Amino acid sequence: MREIKCSDISDTIREMCIEATHFLSEDMKAALEQAVDREESMLGKQVLESLEENLEIAGRDMIPICQDTGMAVLFVEIGQEVHITGGVLEDAINEGVRRGYVDGYLRKSVVEDPIYRKNTQDNTPAIIHYNIVPGDTMKITLAPKGFGSENMSRVIMLKPADGIEGVKKAILETVDAAGPNACPPVVVGVGIGGDFEKCAIMAKHALTRPAGEHSPVPYVRDLEIELLDKINRLGIGPGGLGGTVTAFAINIETYPTHIAGLPLAVNICCHVNRHCVREL
Ligand code: SF4
Repeated sequence: MREIKCSDISDTIREMCIEATHFLSEDMKAALEQAVDREESMLGKQVLESLEENLEIAGRDMIPICQDTGMAVLFVEIGQEVHITGGVLEDAINEGVRRGYVDGYLRKSVVEDPIYRKNTQDNTPAIIHYNIVPGDTMKITLAPKGFGSENMSRVIMLKPADGIEGVKKAILETVDAAGPNACPPVVVGVGIGGDFEKCAIMAKHALTRPAGEHSPVPYVRDLEIELLDKINRLGIGPGGLGGTVTAFAINIETYPTHIAGLPLAVNICCHVNRHCVREL
């Protein structure tokens, strides 16, 4: 067994929260650069150039990329040969998020009850998805999620007879309905299959895949290419002001499902698609 200390987990997550909210990953920066060249509308180009400038200022002056620094979503892959010491894993993760958001002066966006809505003042608790995997390391993926785009996301329980055409139609309708509210250009995470909650988790996880990297499944890869083209023909454009770049990428994950169902989740993320990975 390899030991990993809770204090190391908290320290790592603290740093990740500050990094992810001030710097976009290389894949997202490249997607933004390519979009400036690809965008055909002058206004759209200007919006993209402003987003690039905003990103540069954020990193240089250590000002968050967006005022909505998100709810901390974590995917934690724990090797089954790992022994966590010095506390409780979930507490260590939340302690890292707490220190990241307080020390980094990041906006505290979490309320302790969905109806009474008292702010927790430290952006905890985080949303944590655990996965036990082979090995003796721990891989932490942090994806602070803004809710402008989260609010435009959907889970749709399609029927098997809807097939691939039904899937395409539902994805395009969801992105179209999101319009400017999701702060485009967006990244579209999609989960197809599993059950009600599995497809939603896959859609969120798909957002952490580097933009421009396709699914290894041939038909899914083709679907990603076809739908990205169709989404970009919707005309929503950067900032929703019209143009040819409505999405940077669409990332799809699939999973086996029940004979009677075809669950589909579409999780939209804005241009601030923050994701940051560390291994302990
Ligand atoms: S959706 Fe994204 S860009 Fe829009 S306000 Fe929220 S975090 Fe910021």
